[in-house]
Amino acid sequence: ALASAIEQVRDELHRTRDAATRSAGVAEAAIFDAHLLVLDDADLRSAAESVIASGGSAASAWTAAVAAAARDLEAVGDDYVAARAADIRAVGDQVLRALAGEPIESMVGDGILVAADLTPAQAAALDSDRTTGVVLAHSSPTAHAAILARARGIPMLVAAGPPVLDVAAGTTVAMDGSAGELEIDPDEETRQRFAGRAEAEADRRREAQVRAHEPARTRDGTAVTVAANVASTEEAEAAATAGAELAGLVRTEFLFVGRTSAPDIDEQEATYLALAEAMGGRRLTIRTLDVGGDKPLSYLPMPPEANPFLGLRGIRLTLARPELLTDQLIAIVRTAHQTPVSVMFPMVTSADEIAAARGLLADAIDRVGKGSPPGLQVGIMVEVPAAALTASTLASDVDFFSIGTNDLTQYVLAVERGNEAVASLVDPMHPAVLRLIEATCQGAGERVTVAVCGELASDPQAVPALLRLGVRELSVAAPAVPFTKEAVRSTDLRQN
Ligand code: PEP
Ligand code: MG
Repeated sequence: ALASAIEQVRDELHRTRDAATRSAGVAEAAIFDAHLLVLDDADLRSAAESVIASGGSAASAWTAAVAAAARDLEAVGDDYVAARAADIRAVGDQVLRALAGEPIESMVGDGILVAADLTPAQAAALDSDRTTGVVLAHSSPTAHAAILARARGIPMLVAAGPPVLDVAAGTTVAMDGSAGELEIDPDEETRQRFAGRAEAEADRRREAQVRAHEPARTRDGTAVTVAANVASTEEAEAAATAGAELAGLVRTEFLFVGRTSAPDIDEQEATYLALAEAMGGRRLTIRTLDVGGDKPLSYLPMPPEANPFLGLRGIRLTLARPELLTDQLIAIVRTAHQTPVSVMFPMVTSADEIAAARGLLADAIDRVGKGSPPGLQVGIMVEVPAAALTASTLASDVDFFSIGTNDLTQYVLAVERGNEAVASLVDPMHPAVLRLIEATCQGAGERVTVAVCGELASDPQAVPALLRLGVRELSVAAPAVPFTKEAVRSTDLRQN
């Protein structure tokens, strides 16, 4: 019974992963690969089987094995490992439902869904025509469920607090995901106010789309490049349709996660060329593999780290394992001989790292044997405060900087991204973050362009401040491209 329940859930997970890949992209769907790995966990399975062998029922054996495995992980006291425990519990519940012969859970019903939390599978199963919004008592904006819902255009409000679970089914609620506002049983005036906001939002979307393919200039005529962050060919197509002038950040992790070995050079080249085609031949800013610590790869075993965000991640990891980076750079160089490409190194702290990465790039160019690709630009992500503060030194080694405000904010404010307990302290508009952005722009000088590719770039309130500090490229999620162009157009750099 247990074996067949596990097989049933395996089929369900494959279907959910394929649906999520189509609707949200490969990177977002990778969580289901993690869930599939839980099903294959030999220790979990043998723990359950030994209880069955001594006379326990399949359901009780499985429940005990899942609970013990999750408890062990939670006891480690690390957020990343605790998230793995949540994966084990989510998959455990799915197997239990299959054992009990219950149908696959689907979120049916019209209107706003209120829940404690959602598993990624549940978020992927939401019917976006019927679910007009989701309110969660827990979770954080960077949780997998929130990312999946966002990519599918379903408004979501997270960390609303446990009292929200007492709201009776059928109650009218008004929610505004952007403002993080929730009104239970709103009076007529409040309803009108929220309805007015929703209409204004729809109008803004229509208007922004009309001019989405025109370039963005501020009122005083300063040209600003609006680019897109992409992690799949679907997103690249959406970016081109939304008017993105280039891919300002290609998160190549999507090619490397959820598999048992790294993609070879040919596969990488084919994927980058497919992205370029989906982008209509626009420039790709290909970020080299940004994993490690908090984002492990099964084929890259690494010892556990007490502080993974301060550990072997980004460029540190790929310089420590240069064979991975060399293959990727060869694929990038080959691509750059066929279509406009910039290469970008993540999580750089020092000039030594840039020199080492450039050395590997030079080797890759030699190995491809066609000389330096025309128009190949080399840049770094500025996400470590030290890089922002020494930007004038680093500038001499690069063509561009791209500021990753997601990581820069966590490092300068000492607030871990995705940790619900400190989510309220995450403030990318904090004066300390803005000073680092300013330092980066000043250090860049005239020759080196400065982009922002963190989430902050798509906040219309932040756009004028970023442009005033000297940022000249904004790279945002595809659906945000038209709005970001409008935010640029309404900025006047002559005013303070
Ligand atoms: C960032 O850190 O702001 C960024 C864009 O990179 P990622 O979110 O992929 O870490
Ligand atoms: Mg980052």
